[in-house]
Amino acid sequence: MSKVINNENVTVNVHNPGELVSDWKTALQYLKDGNKRYLEEKTIARNTNAEDRAELKSGQKPFAIIVTCSDSRVSPEIFFDHKLGDIFVIRNAGNIADSTALGSIEYAVEHLKSPLVVVVGHSCCGAVTGAFQGGEYPSNLKTIIDEITPEISGCGDVDEAIHSNIDSVVKKIQENEIVKEMGAKTIGAYYDIESGEVKFK
Ligand SMILES: [Zn+2]
Repeated sequence: MSKVINNENVTVNVHNPGELVSDWKTALQYLKDGNKRYLEEKTIARNTNAEDRAELKSGQKPFAIIVTCSDSRVSPEIFFDHKLGDIFVIRNAGNIADSTALGSIEYAVEHLKSPLVVVVGHSCCGAVTGAFQGGEYPSNLKTIIDEITPEISGCGDVDEAIHSNIDSVVKKIQENEIVKEMGAKTIGAYYDIESGEVKFK
């Protein structure tokens, strides 16, 4: 943990790029604190400069793995108010855990020792809406839709489907052998693109 001064001259605790966080609760608190700063428009003025890159050139110790949507309104470094070296991010349309996403998670929990995985779905998700409504899609996009569709069967509306998709991705990651072996915690979260708030499930 290191201390920085925010734009209101208040000291806040943040992750130091050289700090290995092994406790998922500490990691979760960093994310909660960051989203609070973002909501209150008290983000920390720092980054991204040569000093940061110099500190990170010898390695990375991201305290959390974030699986989220590629949607341009859903950028985790921004809504968690974190910077280079802090979070290991996997993004695809619909925040699914396909084999490449799982492989990336395995790498981060095993080699970078990240203790926390957070699956962040979001309001107005186009991928989940596409799966909910059904239809014809080109083959690669269909791969994503087909991954989501069975997880949202029975949902009454798109928002329910978004939550159901988050829960199923969390479950899939929790069942991963490497994640289990390394003892990483996996939780879900929902990002509201209008309010900017992340609600952890
Ligand atoms: Zn989306």
